Amino acid sequence: MAIHEKSLIRPENIRTHDNLIIDGVDVSGHWSTFIESRVVTDYNEALEEEISALPGGEYIHRCWQCGSCTNSCTVNAVNPDFNPRYWIYLIRMGMEDELLRDKEIIWQCVSCNKCTYSCPRDVAPEGVMKATAHWLELKGHTEPSNSTIFDTEFTRQVVETGKIEDGRILKNFLINSGQPLVQDWLIQMVKQMINNLPFKFLFHLGWATLFKPKTKNWDKARAAIEEHIAEEKAEQRVALGLSKQEGL
Ligand code: SF4
Ligand code: SF4
Repeated sequence: MAIHEKSLIRPENIRTHDNLIIDGVDVSGHWSTFIESRVVTDYNEALEEEISALPGGEYIHRCWQCGSCTNSCTVNAVNPDFNPRYWIYLIRMGMEDELLRDKEIIWQCVSCNKCTYSCPRDVAPEGVMKATAHWLELKGHTEPSNSTIFDTEFTRQVVETGKIEDGRILKNFLINSGQPLVQDWLIQMVKQMINNLPFKFLFHLGWATLFKPKTKNWDKARAAIEEHIAEEKAEQRVALGLSKQEGL
């Protein structure tokens, strides 16, 4: 399936000659423009399976390349290089090296889900973008994103205590992502909360941030969740051809 889309022509693949005369006709500069063809020899034939093994990527095989996802995409509207339809095509073709050329922008999906609502094949492209960003991290092509760092802290807290405490999640997220604990937006938010929220709520928030309250009789549920997460991660690692033991 050939892809014809102007935005996919990369500047480094465009060739012109400053001085070129063919059969006596001067075709220098713009007139000699051509797109260098690329020969792809290094396919990852398991790429579609690897992405579909991760949460969100399950329905990638349904895509028929209509382009509705890219046409409706919030990020594509400001950056034409952000192209879900094209990445789904590359994944299904196993063109891993080509996909890796865009590894620094795939994570920029803002999860608005416009693509998901416009997709006629229920591919859930938003999920595919999430799975692809996750795949890039698991394979070591990119560093864990702030989104992954946040999810990890969120999950850790739920598993550990059966509760979510906003203040503690925020504090640990800022520490784990290497950000300062004191930030202008945070100061503004705290001021708003002090002015608008009842004292009882603020007291509870502060207390929960410091003392890690736990859901009653949580240990059995915790063990079951930990077992499920471990099994799921092991399955994903096997699907990606990674060692089963290493943590994600
Ligand atoms: S809208 Fe759905 S079917 Fe169309 S290209 Fe995007 S993912 Fe594929
Ligand atoms: S969810 Fe992501 S890929 Fe889909 S339209 Fe929004 S920004 Fe684009």
